[in-house]
Amino acid sequence: MHISRGFILKKKPFNESDCFITVFSEKFGKIDIMARGTRKIESKMAPHLHLFDMIELGFVQGKKFRILTAASVIRPFAQSADYFLKNAIIVYLMYFTDKFSFEDEKKEIWSYLEKLIFFMEGVPPTRQKDAEFILAKINYFFLSVNGWKPELDRCCACGNRQNKESKNLMFSQKEGGIICEKCSPQIVEKRIIERETADIISFLSQNNDVYSHDFPENSSKEARKTLEEMLFFSGEEKPAFPVYFLGVQ
Ligand SMILES: [Zn+2]
Repeated sequence: MHISRGFILKKKPFNESDCFITVFSEKFGKIDIMARGTRKIESKMAPHLHLFDMIELGFVQGKKFRILTAASVIRPFAQSADYFLKNAIIVYLMYFTDKFSFEDEKKEIWSYLEKLIFFMEGVPPTRQKDAEFILAKINYFFLSVNGWKPELDRCCACGNRQNKESKNLMFSQKEGGIICEKCSPQIVEKRIIERETADIISFLSQNNDVYSHDFPENSSKEARKTLEEMLFFSGEEKPAFPVYFLGVQ
């Protein structure tokens, strides 16, 4: 039997009484496991298989699927049930982990999840301003872990250093970051971002462990949106619910 800690990212009904769970596990990365009989009322394992909980799980490799043999909750997700924004951030984190992590990625993502979740437990009710900043951090992390970091110092097309004076910058997710005024006319897919937005993204690239900041909410939100778009573009995924879930555009 294989044993590991893991976060439950997704659950999908299968047959009449079974389900598949997708787990981000400490030892095996993101894996799907068949949980037999867990949709029956009398299932002993079902109460340990709630979405976004951290669990300890055991499984064996069956002919077709991995089969869950043991599960127990280590840290329930709804611990901070009175703080909507905190839980929203965790749901967002789990959603992005499911979309942008793979079976062979383990240590870096696991320690990131653990660190962020335990950090979230310790902080007072999160302000919207901080929430946007943390979401931007989550996006930056998944861009970076997949090798899709945005280029901010130099133009992605010609390699020239960016002009530190200009207030607005051109950003192209397709090119992978900032593009200069000279190259800009040749690049169709781009958006204007403000200097402050680029500053936040730069800040994120240098300060992985910082959660407090003085950036205005609007700039954090712009940074979050820019990075989020880039992440979905780079991962060739279509965004589904996170934006609706947080009630922000
Ligand atoms: Zn250029």
